Amino acid sequence: MIILGHDQSGSNAPSLIEAVRSWRGQLPAGESLALVPTMGALHEGHLSLVRAAREECDQVALTIFVNPTQFAPGEDLSEYPRTLKKDLEKARKAGVDLVWLGQAELLYPPGFSTEVIVPELSERLCGLSRPHHFGGVCIVVLKLFNIFQPTHAYFGEKDLQQVTIIERMTRDLNLPLEIVSRPLVREPDGLAMSSRNVRLSDEERVTALSLSTVLGQIVSSHAAGEMNVEKLLKDARSLLPAEVSLEYLEILDRSSLQPLQDLSESQDAVTCLAARVGEVRLIDNMALVHPQ
Ligand code: AMP
Repeated sequence: MIILGHDQSGSNAPSLIEAVRSWRGQLPAGESLALVPTMGALHEGHLSLVRAAREECDQVALTIFVNPTQFAPGEDLSEYPRTLKKDLEKARKAGVDLVWLGQAELLYPPGFSTEVIVPELSERLCGLSRPHHFGGVCIVVLKLFNIFQPTHAYFGEKDLQQVTIIERMTRDLNLPLEIVSRPLVREPDGLAMSSRNVRLSDEERVTALSLSTVLGQIVSSHAAGEMNVEKLLKDARSLLPAEVSLEYLEILDRSSLQPLQDLSESQDAVTCLAARVGEVRLIDNMALVHPQ
């Protein structure tokens, strides 16, 4: 496994992009290259993307970069878990060909000012409390696409809004690659896997489980025939413990992410939420299953 970026200082940082280009240039013509962008603190959710990429593509590149432009001042950029040594071991075991460790000074040199915005889709849900977040995601993902020129890029449905925005950006800008989205991976008890879960205290970890429980409640009530969106959401909200500070809980159309009024209209609905448990912001979503 090639590791690019380890122990490199800001002064020689530009070579990190040239190194990728030269590695890319030496790959046999016609080989597929999967890119798996992450912020590290790797868990089974990330590794499920790597494994799918390994099965479906000839080469797999994993990037680890805690991207500052997707964090607002006061968010958890400095507290974000960093576990590089373990990450490299996991990447190696999962069969990654190249790991690239991004550097802020390389990706955002002085004077950097370009923005990439996918309006509307970026303004709702997580965009309401994090108005600059998806702009930061889009710019870093687009830069990684330009640096690596992958044929495929893998994203998790854990971040459903994110992958929807990236799909839209890719389509709108005619980017020559395929976006592959993969299912959300959960802990055995149902909590959505997240790098941020390690920041939960034991007590908060118990509270956090209520997030997947209420989504599961919406899915099962709907599967049992409840079609009233307002009632499904109201019942679910009443199940959340007081320690959960709910940001949003919605039932949406999967591809447009528009709120649904009437479930019988849609064949592809998803329920999603964002909430704070203590200091930790968590997101989760589940697909609705139509009553038989
Ligand atoms: P992150 O490191 O949180 O930026 O995530 C990197 C990639 O891993 C994104 O495409 C996420 O959607 C994906 N990912 C994170 N957690 C999970 C999970 N529990 N299941 C599936 N994919 C995930």
